[in-house]
Amino acid sequence: MKPHSLLLFTSFALGVGLFGVQGTVFNMSENNSGAQDVVGHVGAFRVGIQAGHLKSDEAPEELSGLHGHGTGARGGGATEQEVVLKIARLAAEMLREKGVIVDVLPTTIPPLYRADAFVSIHADSNPSVVVSGFKLSAPLRGIEEKSPELEDAIYDSYEKATGLRRDPNITDSMKNYYAFNWRKYQNAVDPFTPAVIIETGFITSPFDQRVIVSNPELSARGIADGVFEFLNKDKN
Ligand SMILES: [Zn+2]
Repeated sequence: MKPHSLLLFTSFALGVGLFGVQGTVFNMSENNSGAQDVVGHVGAFRVGIQAGHLKSDEAPEELSGLHGHGTGARGGGATEQEVVLKIARLAAEMLREKGVIVDVLPTTIPPLYRADAFVSIHADSNPSVVVSGFKLSAPLRGIEEKSPELEDAIYDSYEKATGLRRDPNITDSMKNYYAFNWRKYQNAVDPFTPAVIIETGFITSPFDQRVIVSNPELSARGIADGVFEFLNKDKN
């Protein structure tokens, strides 16, 4: 190839490359206008729902501490991963029915994942079967001021939908959950994505099992309703 044809080839390839990138961005803003929108909300909302422990063995090096944790807690003949995946899929369906774009995400979320709301779904465990209840946490050091609003909305809706009691024992690992610890991890939400983690109940509690294991649609309803209310709160 002669130098000038190489140059031509290069600029052609560059042009195709640029066009490709622009095409992607355009498609994203078309389908995902809400997430990129600063001034007002146009088009559909986008929500990320993480099914806790899903594909945890595929987590990258920075999250290698999660390897070997497998499917999380166990109880009622089910694993935490099975239970929360069911809840995540049902909640996603309920939100999609209302026109929300939903990504159901595994342990590893895309770097700087951006959405109008992010909810990580887990279930708790305890050596004592009488310990029960659900709880939520927003990031400890979030700069996204709306995370507590999302937290409040789901507290109310989840309590209403499931009849489970609130467990006040929020742990540090909830507040510092890796998926919203963008200071420390690449595979985390971006700083402007409102984010919460929910422990949907104790998988080791027969009382909570009646909801999260036997009637996961109640948990899903509680989460979907809270998210939807949060999304539409500021919509005029
Ligand atoms: Zn978990």
